Amino acid sequence: MEFNLQKIVRKNIKELKPYSSARHEYDGKASVFLDANENSLGSPLPENFNRYPDPLQRKLKSALSGIKKVSVENMFIGNGSDEVIDLAYRIFCNPAQDSAIICPPTYGMYQVSAGINDVNLIRVPLTGKFQPDTNAILKASSNLTKLLFICSPNNPTGNNMDSRSMETLLQKFPGVVIIDEAYIDFSDQESLTEKLSVYPNLIVMQTLSKAWGLASLRLGLAFASAGIIDLFNKVKPPYNINQASQELALKALKNMKEVNNRIQILLNQRDHLNAELLKIGFVEKIFESDANFLLVKVKDADALYTYLVQHKIIVRNRSREPMCEGCLRVTVGTPDENVQLINTLKLYQ
Ligand SMILES: *Cc1c(COP(=O)(O)O)cnc(C)c1O
Repeated sequence: MEFNLQKIVRKNIKELKPYSSARHEYDGKASVFLDANENSLGSPLPENFNRYPDPLQRKLKSALSGIKKVSVENMFIGNGSDEVIDLAYRIFCNPAQDSAIICPPTYGMYQVSAGINDVNLIRVPLTGKFQPDTNAILKASSNLTKLLFICSPNNPTGNNMDSRSMETLLQKFPGVVIIDEAYIDFSDQESLTEKLSVYPNLIVMQTLSKAWGLASLRLGLAFASAGIIDLFNKVKPPYNINQASQELALKALKNMKEVNNRIQILLNQRDHLNAELLKIGFVEKIFESDANFLLVKVKDADALYTYLVQHKIIVRNRSREPMCEGCLRVTVGTPDENVQLINTLKLYQ
């Protein structure tokens, strides 16, 4: 299927003339900045934050480029993946007209953001093996279906999506396919960033919130064609990534070895937690996970959830999600936290 970006982007976005910030217009070296009505005297803090940050986060992107093996022109940074999702709806979906496809059970923000943007959401459930139903997805799509969200590894089920199914969808889906790889660093699967030059309709989302341990800095990543990235840059708020986040992330990216060590610890802990949970009588099933959490089917999910809350342990009750009846989603914690969880569960009658 021929993919034409110009045909699928909203007309008002195509015609939009973006806000040009003072720092956008002047790109050279200067020492006197009297252009942005900042406070030239500084901040009431040990460090100064009185200047507006780089709207394009060039230093951070350049460091990410080395780690992710993606060119800077194919990279967008959002204020969390939440912002990337919202911008994708706003760029491609005309409110009250266009639609998007999600495959439940999956991440809740795709639905919330569709609701905010008045986008008609089509739900094509995962198969019994928690895989995308490619035929049903293609059958459900039309020229009004602008976006398809696939989450791999999927939240809350934890498993990788089959890479052949994802490529079939990239070849045949008429709109943009967003592959959410929030948990890819925990998985053996290759990132689809490797296929960016093959598929002009591909957006790969990643985040620094999970494996990188920087959830509170709010840094979501999108990788796509330069044309799609230009649209994101046009529509985003000018200074969507604050200076503190840019600086701290740049520092964190220098500690990749430590991050990889922690990923290994979490994966070992996941397998240990899995084995310990299986010894508990009321645990009926644990789904295979390629992420840093386990989806656990238990006898009475609501009662068990409440019991854990009473013991100050919070897990995620997913038992009302389709195909997740009786399921709790448990994030892998520190070794101590995992022991605490297991000991508390063993005392449950
Ligand atoms: C946690 C998570 C994210 C990350 O969201 P941020 O806004 O970047 O913190 C994205 N997608 C999925 C499926 C997630 O579970």
